Amino acid sequence: MHYFTYHLNELYCEEVPVKEIVNKFGTPIYIYSARTIRRHFSVFSASFKEVEHLVCYSVKANSNLAVLALLGKEGAGADVVSVGELVRALKAGIPASKIVYSGVGKRPDEIELALKAGILMFNVESLEELECLGEIAKSVGIKAPFALRVNPNVDPKTHPYISTGLKKNKFGIPEEEVIDAYLKAKKNPYLLPIGLDAHIGSQITDVSPFVSALRRLKAIWNELTRLGFELRYLDLGGGLGIPYADEEPPPPEEYARAIIEEVKPLDCTLILEPGRVIVGNAGILVTRVLYRKTNGDKKFVIVDAGMNDLIRPALYQAYHKIQPVKLTTSEEEVVDVVGPVCESGDFFARDRKLPRLERGDLLAIMSAGAYGFVMSSNYNSRCRAAEVLVDGETFYLVRKRETIDDLISLEIIPDYLK
Ligand code: PLP
Repeated sequence: MHYFTYHLNELYCEEVPVKEIVNKFGTPIYIYSARTIRRHFSVFSASFKEVEHLVCYSVKANSNLAVLALLGKEGAGADVVSVGELVRALKAGIPASKIVYSGVGKRPDEIELALKAGILMFNVESLEELECLGEIAKSVGIKAPFALRVNPNVDPKTHPYISTGLKKNKFGIPEEEVIDAYLKAKKNPYLLPIGLDAHIGSQITDVSPFVSALRRLKAIWNELTRLGFELRYLDLGGGLGIPYADEEPPPPEEYARAIIEEVKPLDCTLILEPGRVIVGNAGILVTRVLYRKTNGDKKFVIVDAGMNDLIRPALYQAYHKIQPVKLTTSEEEVVDVVGPVCESGDFFARDRKLPRLERGDLLAIMSAGAYGFVMSSNYNSRCRAAEVLVDGETFYLVRKRETIDDLISLEIIPDYLK
């Protein structure tokens, strides 16, 4: 669900006409609905109320400071994968005691900073990282709370680029090595084993892979308990999918029911790291039609957003609904909606039936709130889009549009080339 709806054929975000925002800040522009984000978070968290739990919003999905501050106010913790994300979460007011740190390649300086910040838990992804964590913890005299991320070898049946819990993926530690790793960690008093973690992938539309992973985790948890470990946190990661087209992912209540069933017998605090399901449908990318053109049988609508703004279609052949900001005609035609970037992969829709569009029309690319702006780039020296947060009748610029000066400000021409 989301709060992007039409009133008198005009697309609104909550109480604000999308056109009003565009008139003020231009295109391409990301628009987020605060009410949608709040609702998604509260429904998700409430679904787990039967068990002790902490929802650590996955910052990578959308790391705008205003989005983080909004979620922090709702009580969210954060799942971060870099010091950049950690600093964002802290700056947005999310306490370190609610932050978990995942990622296969944490640098030593990042580990030290997170240790000093006092985060809840490191989700460690390799034996060498565990060793490194132990050394740093000892050198700074701060005990390191950690969970090992297990690679449960479960197929999440999603796009291969976003499946992470299979043996062939780079993530986590193979199941059969996990117990030994905890036993080894016991020898370093600066390593504090407090949890167990897995994350199997993203945009998962069926509960069964989550349940399979959880069963694997439970077996390891029980074995560790038998060996005398007193773990507290069972972290199941994120991954619940959203409807982009005709997918039918389980609603959070159903997903939660299946998980609660499994974890109830354990004495633990469940950690969840949802990203997409919180912000995905809470954001749109608005773009303007620059030109129409026909090449043989193909009709193209060229818009002013490109794959540098939203890379999901180019990267994963991902589907995003596209809707006109103003409904003016019932005439339809089949077109490719493409961006200005010099790549054939720069498209938002192929052979899509859409209302006939003209130069200057505004289009909303739906479900762009997750893995949208955060994956944007300056390819083709294009300035990244502005971001706006709508809350009721009010809207706020939460990231300025980049300028050409921003783009070149870090570059240096050596004197001898001048
Ligand atoms: N946790 C970890 C470790 C991740 O890598 C990801 C993303 O893939 C997430 C949580 C969030 O996943 P999603 O946005 O699918 O909920």
